[in-house]
Amino acid sequence: MRTLLRGGTVVSAADQFRADVLIEGSRITQLGESLAVTADQVLDVAGCLLLPGLVDSHTHLAMPTMGTVTADDFNTGTAAAAAGGTTTVVDFALQTEGSLLAGLEAWRERAAGQSHIDYGFHLAVTEASPEAISEMQAVVDQGVTSFKVFMAFKGSFMADDEQLLRVLRRTRETGGLVQVHAENGDAIEVNIAEALGRGEIAPQFHAKTRPDSTEQEATARAIHLARWAKRPVFLVHVSSAAAVSEIQTARAAGSPVYGETCVHYLTLTEDELARPGFDGAKYVCSPPLRTLSDQAVLWSALRQQSLQICTTDHCPFNFCGQKELGKDDFSKIPNGLPGIEHRLTLLHEYGVRAGRLTMPELVRITSTAPARMFGLDRKGRLAPGYDADIVVFDPESHMTITARGHHMAVDYTPYEGWECRGAPVTVFSRGEVVFRDGELVSTPGRGQYIRRTPGPFGPGEVDSLRWV
Ligand SMILES: [Zn+2]
Repeated sequence: MRTLLRGGTVVSAADQFRADVLIEGSRITQLGESLAVTADQVLDVAGCLLLPGLVDSHTHLAMPTMGTVTADDFNTGTAAAAAGGTTTVVDFALQTEGSLLAGLEAWRERAAGQSHIDYGFHLAVTEASPEAISEMQAVVDQGVTSFKVFMAFKGSFMADDEQLLRVLRRTRETGGLVQVHAENGDAIEVNIAEALGRGEIAPQFHAKTRPDSTEQEATARAIHLARWAKRPVFLVHVSSAAAVSEIQTARAAGSPVYGETCVHYLTLTEDELARPGFDGAKYVCSPPLRTLSDQAVLWSALRQQSLQICTTDHCPFNFCGQKELGKDDFSKIPNGLPGIEHRLTLLHEYGVRAGRLTMPELVRITSTAPARMFGLDRKGRLAPGYDADIVVFDPESHMTITARGHHMAVDYTPYEGWECRGAPVTVFSRGEVVFRDGELVSTPGRGQYIRRTPGPFGPGEVDSLRWV
């Protein structure tokens, strides 16, 4: 099957240019102006932008946590991703019953036969026992080349400094990248106990007990530990100007420190948590939403590549029955926001159309950089030999985000009623159309597990900055 996309504008991480794209089977085979080739079908995509399918390297599908399970599974979550132009997810598997390999097995079972798009995993190390550390090589051998350590959530996911350092050091042998959730879990635990003791139970106190200094301190500590381990480190969901400044200082000194932010930190503020009634619970996530001035710093950090990636940290919980678990105690509100479906549209509206990002920068932070950093060697670019994961994007189409209209299996959206310009018209995954004209045309289970390579983060000691 040969499909020719005729008359579009290809956007890469560096520039944009008029080009036709030829898809043969699952790959892109030719790209150039006015290609003189025959094809089984020719699609006129004049007026549209052609983007490499987006990579969302931070999702939590079917994840058990805080006494419940995230609302989207691999079927509904990846359907929503595809509808929004995301063609690859890298989801977080959790260490299970002490074992990394058992965790990976559990997540592979969850995804099997369910996913609409290609997927890989990171492995979250929640207890860095000698057994778990020794399993890291087998995990990398299965194509899981990144690990995550939580410096927060005491009593459940949190690891101490010794554990984080041991995981970092082990990657000298195994290769791969360690990702860190940087908040000071001990201090936050004290803050929460004191707040509840004062009767402060409402959602807004979630943010007040996790001030930006708790993120800043943990970010600086994670960077020190990585430096002592002589390994690169990646800060997930950076939310504050204070944390960005630690990353910038480290990078200026030549340290291989990387990071991401998420769409909600760029578009929402902590004021949402003070909504009337219990509505603020819809906006509870960790780290919490911050301020407008933090947003400005995050946008510029993405532009300047102090932060390399923008993900969703899609971690959806229904308002009814799930967020409500914390009705009488903010610390019991499941942490996380839905967002897997609307990253492209929101970044187009509030980034590109607002003059904060160029279209190539959008492609870089949502597709090319995550593919490169997380070892997805055939994703993230429109070029011969790469997978034909392609978004045909109409920058002029109007879209109103509503919970009623979205594909996610969650009963609200933080962006209810927001009007945006720009949406996917057609989405290809490995040469197959998975979304067209507002309709999902895919089947669960067509997505494939991707064995990732260590990408730029092979084994060994790293002293100097290696730009990705
Ligand atoms: Zn997360």
